Amino acid sequence: MSGRRQKVLVLYLANSALDAPVIAWALYDGAGETINAVDGVSLRVEPGEFVALYGPSGSGKTTLLMLAATIKQPDSGSIAFDGRELASLTTRESARFRRETVGIVFQGFHLRQGASALDNACLKLLALNMRWSDAQSQARPWLERLGLGHRLESRPAEMSMGERQRVALARALATKPRLLLADEPTGNLDTRRSQEVLGLLRDICTEENIPVILVTHDPQATTYVSRVHTLRDGTLSDGLHLDLHATVS
Ligand code: ADP
Ligand code: MG
Repeated sequence: MSGRRQKVLVLYLANSALDAPVIAWALYDGAGETINAVDGVSLRVEPGEFVALYGPSGSGKTTLLMLAATIKQPDSGSIAFDGRELASLTTRESARFRRETVGIVFQGFHLRQGASALDNACLKLLALNMRWSDAQSQARPWLERLGLGHRLESRPAEMSMGERQRVALARALATKPRLLLADEPTGNLDTRRSQEVLGLLRDICTEENIPVILVTHDPQATTYVSRVHTLRDGTLSDGLHLDLHATVS
C-alpha cells in the first residue's frame, strides 16, 4: 500500500533490570489506510516508578496501555514483563495474566450497576475463584483505605463519579497487582477528586513498589508522577524525570 509506514513500538515493560528490549507494532486498518497508532516508542518502567504517558486525544495512549495489558496483541514484535514474553500469549494465557498480575483502571469505571461497592470491589477476586467471604475480607480494607467505608452497600448509581472511580481502583488493587495501568482515571472527575485519585496512585506505587503507568491528557496529572513521556501521533518523547517527592508548586 502506498504511503504505508509500518511503525515500530518498542515497549520495555520490565519488572527486572535484566529484561531484554522488545519490539512491537500497533497498527489499525482505517478506511483504506494503515493507522500507526504507536510509532517508534521505547519505554521501560521499573517497579516503584509512576510514569505518565501524556498526549492529546488520538495520540495512541490507550493503544499503548492495551498492549501493556495484553488486551491488544502487537502486530509484530514482543513485549516483556518480569522477563516474560507477553506478545505471544494465547487468549487464555493473556486473560490469566490480566486477572492475576495486572490491575487496570478505566476512565469509564466499568462497574457492575446492580452490585454494591463491596461486590464490585470483589469481582476480580471472585474471578480468581476466591471464596466470597475471603474476597470481601481482602477487598473491604481497600475500600476503607480509599475513603469508602461508609459506602460498602451503595450501588454505582448512588455514588459520585469520584466514589465510583475509587471503587474501580479498589477492585484493581484488591488482587495485589504487580503492574497497575490507569487510562484517563481522572477524566470524569473534578479537580479535587482528581487530586485524590492521583495521590492514591502515587502512594500505592511507592508502597507496593510496583510499576504504575498513567495515560492522561490532563496536565495536572503529570505533576504527580516520577516521569512524563509525551505521546504525539504515536511517538513517545524522551522521559522527563521528576522527583516523586518534590513539592508541587
Ligand atoms: P488516545 O487514547 O491517545 O486517544 P488511541 O490509542 O485510542 O489514542 O488511538 C490512536 C489512534 O489509533 C487514533 O488515530 C485512533 O483513531 C486509532 N484507533 C484506535 N483504535 C482503533 C481501532 N479499533 N480501529 C481503527 N483505528 C483505531
Ligand atoms: Mg484513550
